[in-house]
Amino acid sequence: MKIFRADYVFPVSADPIKNGVIGVDDLGKIIFVSDKVPPASSRFPVQQLSGILTPGFINTHCHVELSHLQGKIPENGGLVEFIKGIQQLRNSDPKEIEEAALKADNDMYENGIVAVGDISNSNATVSLKENSKIYYHTFVETFGFTPSRAQEVFDKALALLNQFKPQPCSVTPHAPYSVSKELFKLIKQYADTNAKNLLSIHNQECEDENKFYRYKLGSFNDLYAHFGIDISYFKPQARNSLQSVIPLFSNKQDILMVHNTCTNLKDIYFIKRFDRKIHWCLCPNANLYIEGTLPKVELFLNQGFNITLGTDSLASNSKLCILSEMYTLQKKFPALSTETLLKWATLNGATYLGIDHRKGSLEPGKNPGLNLISGLDDLRITDYTKVKRLI
Ligand SMILES: [Zn+2]
Repeated sequence: MKIFRADYVFPVSADPIKNGVIGVDDLGKIIFVSDKVPPASSRFPVQQLSGILTPGFINTHCHVELSHLQGKIPENGGLVEFIKGIQQLRNSDPKEIEEAALKADNDMYENGIVAVGDISNSNATVSLKENSKIYYHTFVETFGFTPSRAQEVFDKALALLNQFKPQPCSVTPHAPYSVSKELFKLIKQYADTNAKNLLSIHNQECEDENKFYRYKLGSFNDLYAHFGIDISYFKPQARNSLQSVIPLFSNKQDILMVHNTCTNLKDIYFIKRFDRKIHWCLCPNANLYIEGTLPKVELFLNQGFNITLGTDSLASNSKLCILSEMYTLQKKFPALSTETLLKWATLNGATYLGIDHRKGSLEPGKNPGLNLISGLDDLRITDYTKVKRLI
């Protein structure tokens, strides 16, 4: 057994313990969390550490297969230009894709991430995930805004899903502007009848997504023209994208809304009136990279929702590091305590992914990983704050 003592232990499921100690067995299972070493463990040496101890991080939104696109798409070009860039560059040399993905997986491990909700559009990461030390849930993502292609797109997604099985995986829609009602229906039918099919969707990443749904105006029209997609069938919905697609989701599955950069209070109230199991995922560094703006985080607080964090891909981020996402949020929204952000970064993500019985908090019997966060100032994150993976 290893025993660590630090300035604070943050179990996340309970109040922080000043000068806390934690005992972990050789397989990473937590044996005790306390303010003193229990007599039964007194023969083991205690490692004294400077900083705080936390559970391993949960990254609920990533695209590992896009890791080779780091630095390839200019910052601040807006979402539509970003999507065009991704589509142009995504089919690179398979060797390059594989190597970049492996490095990303390793970097996440070193950055204290123990579980990832990862979007996949190809089988490029099947064997990586099979062999990784990180827990992955793969979201096989569907794209198709042309109604007549819905069945074909859906069948292809199921075929890809089969390549990921028996790993944890599910089939999911990409975004309101890229999935037709017909395709949403097929996913809903599947999610209604299959026991576990977590859903995750890119939501309101830019204002033009709402503009398109409300008035059929804005830059998304250029995007469809660019890809040669006929959208003459689409009628403006007179409401934001989120409100338009919520009824198309299954109420049997947990749903992660990712980004939410342009989600407003009306959208949040709309969701509260619907019986859908909504969780939020914030990816602040990617939002700054693509749109140069952040979600109105204060709107989501104290509403009874589960809030999680994601890194998005290296195409829109300089690193895959949950601590960096926490820092960006705390700098911009100083009222967010490190304790709150830690909950978003650990237990909330584990809850959404359905692995909170094993991960997300420092509790005896769990196997959540163990991070040492050092370089805090009065428990606030600074330029000097670092994460070191201990377990
Ligand atoms: Zn994404």
